[in-house]
This record gives sequence, structure tokens and C-alpha cells, in this order.
Amino acid sequence: MVPGARLIVLGKQGAGKGTQCIRLSHHYVIPHISTGDMLRAEVKHRTELGEEARTYMDAGELIPDDVVLAMVAKRLDQDDTKERGFVLDGFPRTVTQAEGLRDLLSPVELDLVVNLVVPTGLVLRRLASRRVCLDCGTNYSTSNRPRVDWICDVCSGEVVQREDDTAAAIRRRLDLYETETAPLIAWYRKAGTLASISGVGEPESVSDRIILAIDARRAPGADPLAHQGYEAHEPHPPHHAHDHDHEGHLLTDGEHEHPHEHDPWQHDPDLDDPGAGT
Ligand code: AMP
Repeated sequence: MVPGARLIVLGKQGAGKGTQCIRLSHHYVIPHISTGDMLRAEVKHRTELGEEARTYMDAGELIPDDVVLAMVAKRLDQDDTKERGFVLDGFPRTVTQAEGLRDLLSPVELDLVVNLVVPTGLVLRRLASRRVCLDCGTNYSTSNRPRVDWICDVCSGEVVQREDDTAAAIRRRLDLYETETAPLIAWYRKAGTLASISGVGEPESVSDRIILAIDARRAPGADPLAHQGYEAHEPHPPHHAHDHDHEGHLLTDGEHEHPHEHDPWQHDPDLDDPGAGT
């Protein structure tokens, strides 16, 4: 039987956290806990928490730490996470949340915190083309559409462009990432649980790299300082000159396409400024 795991995936919005968390959740048979998905469900069902969260989310602002911590504490108290562990997506986002999580889990520790590293120019393009199923959270993009436009292949739910994937909200979220979330990288590095891994390339290659890092960390007799090796090592997959965009960022296959006018699946022209949000 595959052993469970306690994992966190950090990274800018659009770094591919959601996709990688789903893959890790299948690989280690652990629940995928996305605070963004949980909050969107609350908003959709118009709960008290949802009504409180909506304004923050639409503006790209962070929900107050105590509110998010209470929601996560409830989820971590369920049997599946106690038995198998979890992969946390979008949480923690502040040092206060990381401290809260440490206290919630104590004396149990995390296996690994993965820092998914992707250039800002590439995440802007990914976010602008992102579409998501409101019901099951499956991600699509302008180059990876559902079979029927706006209808989810997995659950037939409604596929939308997220309200907070507007140019202004994306810029705000990326700014907040730098000020609030990036300090977590140093915090987890100090705690000895961080692995920085390149999030550029096909999703399969990225998850192979992550799984390698997790398994190396958990191998019997693993050097407890081995994480420092991961931190220094940010591998890049083999690539060709035409795989780069005009800024020199590496593109994955689905990212070669250019926007077509009059196509509602295509992205917000406001985001065409490659320097935006950096
Ligand atoms: P995400 O889907 O992770 O990009 O989250 C969407 C939005 O939900 C964020 O822009 C925040 O408004 C809110 N949110 C999600 N997770 C957190 C968190 N850990 N702390 C504060 N706000 C959060």
C-alpha cells in the first residue's frame, strides 16, 4: 500500500499548483485540500462564510488568517486527513497561517513543502487563459478546452473564467504573493522542509520531479539535510529554441497558441502586457 503523506505546494497563482496537487493526491492517495476551492464552494452556496469571503476574493485580497485557519482546522480534523495526510493547495499563504498549521499538526510534522518555481511572464499567460469548472474544480484553458464549450467533461458542471482572473485582481494577487506568501519560503527553508522545484514543462515531468523529491526525502536512512540538495537544484527539462516566448520563458505545448479575436475562450487583452504584475 502507498504510504500517505503530508504535503504543501507553494507557488504563485498560475504556477500549476492545482494540477500538481491533484496528481499528488492520486499518487499518494491523500485528500487534496484547496482553500480556494473550499471558499468558492462557500460563496456558491451563499453561506455566512461565503458572503464574508466573496468581497475579499473578488478583489484578489486575502481572507483574514483566523477565518481561513478555522476552516482548515475543521477539515484537518476529519478522518481521511488523519489517516492518510493531505496535500494543501493555496494554504498557508501567510507566516501566521503557517504557524497556525504547525500548532494544529503538532507533534506531527510535514513531509515536504514544495515550492513550485515558474517565471511571472508565464503565470500571467496561464492565468489569462485559465477556465475552471464551478462544480468539481477541474481546470481547463483556452488550449485545453472541454469537449463542449463551458460544460465540464468530468461532471457536466458549468465551466467559467474565474471572477478573480481579471487583470486587476491577478496583479493584486501576485503582489500579495510577493509580500505575504513569498516570506513563507524562507520560513519553511529554515524549518528544513522546503524543496524548490521547477514548475516549467509538461505537468507529467513536473510531477515526476516533485515525487522524486518527496520519495528521496522519505527514503529509509535519508539524510535529514538532503532537503538542502533539493533547494539548490532547480532542474529544467530538455527543450528547443522554439519553446520560448518573446521574453525567453519556456512554454509548454499548450502555451504556444496565440489569442484569436471574437473567441470568448480567449484571454483578457489587458493581460497582454508581459511586464504586468511583476
Ligand atoms: P486560489 O484559488 O488559491 O487562488 O484562492 C482564491 C482566493 O481565495 C484568494 O485570492 C483569496 O481571496 C482566497 N484564499 C484562498 N486561500 C486563502 C488563504 N490561505 N488565505 C487567505 N485567503 C485565501
